[in-house]
Amino acid sequence: MSDLRLREDLSAIPDYKPGKTTTQSAPTGPVFKVSSNENPYPPLPSVASAIADRITHINRYPETAATAVVALLCERFQVSPVNIVLGSGSVEVVSQLMRATAGEGDEVMFAWRSFEAYPMLVRAAGATPVAVPLTADHRHDLDAMRAAITPRTRLILVCNPNNPTGTTIGEDELTAFLDAVPADITVVIDEAYVHFNERTDSPSGIEYFRRYPNVAVAHTFSKAYGLAGLRIGYAIAPERLANALRKVAIPFGVTDLAQAAAVASLHAEGELSARVADLIAERERVVGAFQDAGLDLPETQANFIWVPFGDATTAAAELLESHGLLVRPFAGEGFRVTVAEREANDLLVRLIPELAALRTPVAAG
Ligand SMILES: *Cc1c(COP(=O)(O)O)cnc(C)c1O
Repeated sequence: MSDLRLREDLSAIPDYKPGKTTTQSAPTGPVFKVSSNENPYPPLPSVASAIADRITHINRYPETAATAVVALLCERFQVSPVNIVLGSGSVEVVSQLMRATAGEGDEVMFAWRSFEAYPMLVRAAGATPVAVPLTADHRHDLDAMRAAITPRTRLILVCNPNNPTGTTIGEDELTAFLDAVPADITVVIDEAYVHFNERTDSPSGIEYFRRYPNVAVAHTFSKAYGLAGLRIGYAIAPERLANALRKVAIPFGVTDLAQAAAVASLHAEGELSARVADLIAERERVVGAFQDAGLDLPETQANFIWVPFGDATTAAAELLESHGLLVRPFAGEGFRVTVAEREANDLLVRLIPELAALRTPVAAG
């Protein structure tokens, strides 16, 4: 033990455990990392060449205002540049939102299970996480979230579609919720998976940003756009909040390469949407295979599938891993598997009968 005096509240955050990597291969063949909801497609040629063009400039700091990306986003969403704040992935944007609204003694609310980074980032901000259980059908319980608001609540995260369950919220329930939330509490709609959401009555975060003065939206280039390795995401936020986010942002946190790749991606929307459509078709194929085996899943509108597996979760993850599929298990609850390259999806589909045989009868729903 060293004598270093560290922040005591950090002991509430578990130590970081690196995820499994795919350098090894399974006895049966290749290994697929289907644990992080990454896009299986390599970068588009136009994106790769935009990055290559900027490589020779990396002796310079990036442009903090990210003028080119911001201009394209403003045009797309019909917002002003003052409303857009970039971050090193939308994880950093979510962290900015927490650090700009909450400190010691303040509460940040989110559904649980939801994105694993939320509780860690809240603790790192020095604030108190308030985790409100999902409903029995794996959805946000907005009534319970409303009831959990206290005078200390500063920020509420709504993840739509929700990671890891893939479930969505409806417009009516979000409207009722926002009408009840006091106007001095910031509500963030985390839309990391919005491109994969085909539900027609699911709220568009931007529309709610326009309607409510306390709503912000978080978007990322990591999932549908396939730029997870470059780290770029953004918030669309009311001006006062956006200015506060800039104050807590990491200086030069978004590289020039990431900005160039984002610009090229926004110009390649057609090609990227075709990839998203293929992933959605694959999702439906895999979900159908689970259903055919008698395994009921919550409806997913994301690029991953949540498989509630109760007590047999660890055994299921081990079985899949032994065949080369690295999923994300949550012991005692279920596992999340990314809809990935076709070979990985095929492998999963082939293993579903073996999975179904593992499942204990108590693990329903
Ligand atoms: C993946 C993900 C993000 C974004 O991650 P970045 O790579 O940091 O942009 C944000 N929110 C949720 C719920 C996610 O699953």
